[in-house]
Amino acid sequence: MGEAGWGLFSYIYRMESTDVCILGAGPGGSTAALHLAKAGVRCVLLDKAVFPRDKICGDALSGKVMSELRRIDEDLPALLPHRTDALPSRGIHFIAPNEQWLSVPFQESSSVLGKNGAKRPVVALDEDSANEPLPAPGYLMRRVDFDNLLVETVRRTPLIDFREGDAVTEHTPVSDGWRIGTASGKTLHAKLLIVANGAQSAFTRHVAGIDPEPKHFCAGLRAYYEGVQGLDANGYVELHFLEPFLPGYFWIFPLPNGAANVGVGMRSDAVSRQRINLKTAMLDLIGTHPTLRERFANARLVGDIRGYGLPLGSRRRRLSGDGYLLVGDAAHLIDPFTGEGISNAMISGRWAAHQAVQSLQANDFSASFLASYDRAVYRRLGNELRISTRLQRLLAYRWLFNLVVRRANRNPALKQLLSAMFDDIDLRASLRNPMFYVKLLFA
Ligand SMILES: Cc1cc2nc3c(=O)[nH]c(=O)nc-3n(C[C@H](O)[C@H](O)[C@H](O)COP(=O)(O)OP(=O)(O)OC[C@H]3O[C@@H](n4cnc5c(N)ncnc54)[C@H](O)[C@@H]3O)c2cc1C
Repeated sequence: MGEAGWGLFSYIYRMESTDVCILGAGPGGSTAALHLAKAGVRCVLLDKAVFPRDKICGDALSGKVMSELRRIDEDLPALLPHRTDALPSRGIHFIAPNEQWLSVPFQESSSVLGKNGAKRPVVALDEDSANEPLPAPGYLMRRVDFDNLLVETVRRTPLIDFREGDAVTEHTPVSDGWRIGTASGKTLHAKLLIVANGAQSAFTRHVAGIDPEPKHFCAGLRAYYEGVQGLDANGYVELHFLEPFLPGYFWIFPLPNGAANVGVGMRSDAVSRQRINLKTAMLDLIGTHPTLRERFANARLVGDIRGYGLPLGSRRRRLSGDGYLLVGDAAHLIDPFTGEGISNAMISGRWAAHQAVQSLQANDFSASFLASYDRAVYRRLGNELRISTRLQRLLAYRWLFNLVVRRANRNPALKQLLSAMFDDIDLRASLRNPMFYVKLLFA
């Protein structure tokens, strides 16, 4: 071994070391850490923020999030009905470009699935649990609270060494893994890195070589309001597909205590093409639109209007390489039609933990071995992301959207079908099929 080799050896020898280090303790990173712990594997979980911390988001937790919570711990979803910071969400109001409303309830079934997907009895057998409220199909919960719920679970897990308030500033490949450096000057050696540090991940750009492309990236704004009129009592979220935000949308999501999460999301290439200032356009819509103006007449903006990016999964990427796995927003996995990213972060976090266990057993952290992580993630999410990409493109045809809404409002069977589509990916695929629209036209 030469001098440089010995120098490196002694440097690493004195350095603290771990098998797996996870960057970022959002839903993706926390989920990965919790699944590793379930498999009996220790890890170090690093986050620059001190929790509870805010994350700019619509705060909507889908049925997929509920199933991922259940996979972490059967009892986690059952906590939500008891929390005053979580509002049950039972459906979506779509507002078409011609301003017709279509209200689609979520299927209740996904919320009552028990272990291994088996249906739990809707009427409980013993008296105590008969009084237990069942979790709703979805929830609305500020991210400051939801992410902290996961982090509290992390804190109770002895196998996770959670270190917060210290940003990762360096990730240097060394012969048998990575040297991680933090803002406070600490260093750590890890065999495998799980990179879950969100949409602005420097690792994703500079090491994995994935740049944000305007066509596959969305700009988002979020504002909290109090006093918005006409919020849905059943926690239906409102997606307004209106100009000038198409192919994106303006949203109003009810929150506990009469508050609302209000925002817009629009593809970055469309933002540049139309030279639109999203904040001005959103305030303009709220202030001038005939019905929205009335609903916001006595509303009060609480805090600032804040923006953040959404890396969309409309293009397949390489999610792993020598010694690393990308998770969640750092892997560009947000649904291109709905903007939903929490569940996909949790799903990829779960698969990253699974892959880490395989790699540790085989002592193989090579790019070729880790590629089975990519296959697992895309086997689960690939079809869904492809369909959502097509649906996002269909938004260019406003008349088609208007047609679907008009017909569904007249036809309960079609409405039921659209509702079932949220759970059933094969059904959703029919929206890609031109015959679906031909049948609609002539039905
Ligand atoms: C405006 C907007 C609205 C959205 N609405 C919804 C919605 O309603 N529902 C939904 O499901 N999804 C929504 N999304 C998407 C969702 O917010 C993300 O997909 C989700 O947060 C991804 O989780 P994550 O764990 O990958 O990353 P994040 O939640 O971003 O977590 C990353 C973590 O990494 C930490 N970190 C970053 N850099 C470093 C560093 N250098 N060192 C250490 N730690 C670091 C951060 O502090 C953070 O805690 C929305 C996004 C936006 C922008």
